[in-house]
Amino acid sequence: MRVEIDENSGFCTGVVNAIRKAEEELSRGELYCIGDIVHNSREVERLQRKGLKTIDHGKFALLKNCRVLFRAHGEPPLSYKQAEENGIEVIDASCPVVLNLQKRIREAYEQVKREQGKIVIYGKRGHAEVIGLVGQTNGEAVVVENEADIEQLNFSHPIVLFSQTTKSLEGFQNISALIKERGGAGVIVHDTICRKVANRIPQLRNFAKIHDVIIFVCGEKSSNGRQLFAICREENKRTYLVQSVENIRPEMLEGAESIGISGATSTPAWVMEEIKKKLTEQ
Ligand code: SF4
Repeated sequence: MRVEIDENSGFCTGVVNAIRKAEEELSRGELYCIGDIVHNSREVERLQRKGLKTIDHGKFALLKNCRVLFRAHGEPPLSYKQAEENGIEVIDASCPVVLNLQKRIREAYEQVKREQGKIVIYGKRGHAEVIGLVGQTNGEAVVVENEADIEQLNFSHPIVLFSQTTKSLEGFQNISALIKERGGAGVIVHDTICRKVANRIPQLRNFAKIHDVIIFVCGEKSSNGRQLFAICREENKRTYLVQSVENIRPEMLEGAESIGISGATSTPAWVMEEIKKKLTEQ
């Protein structure tokens, strides 16, 4: 039986850098992180065993004189302000791509508000990255998740559209076309989808086709994982979603001569290696 790990799967550079930074900083002592450093419980547990303490924004607001890591998704300006007021040293592991997007949104907001226009963000309400992006606009940006949300937009003023970095390119193209249709020349569209994620889709389709069975590994909380899993399933009906080697049942592999292992941008390489090892030992 041939077992292959998808070479394009696993952590994106933003997450790799955040984890590297966390490990470096943990060697210097106590470190907190706002929210899970990555949407994968096994990697979170691994870092917790090294001393990383995951907290929410409520707990963060009460901390004083300690070190807190801001993860790859980025944080709104309020978190930086609270850190300064409370003597907190920020270990900023925000992905440079996200930081650049925050800056672009801030600048566009300053400009568009003079014409009573709005910043619109195509993304998931309440997602950590989106909270950070909306924070650049004093909380005034409108978040659009789907077609129905377009109804809340006011097309009599300018609109500047951005996207959460991890959304699908197809979804963004649909939404931006619909908004353009309604707002015409008053709409400026900025495609800010991270290609590290978007480019994975065609690569994943090919990978799913060349194997009899696909074991897709991702954590429960990964929205990127669910999206990529669905794409794999479209190409290969024998695609199974697992979190770890324990979730693999013998019937999943029945009669398979080649097995592909792939994962989300939040799936650690070591979890996929563990699965490969188990399957090749069978
Ligand atoms: S998906 Fe792209 S923008 Fe988001 S953290 Fe990863 S590298 Fe950065």
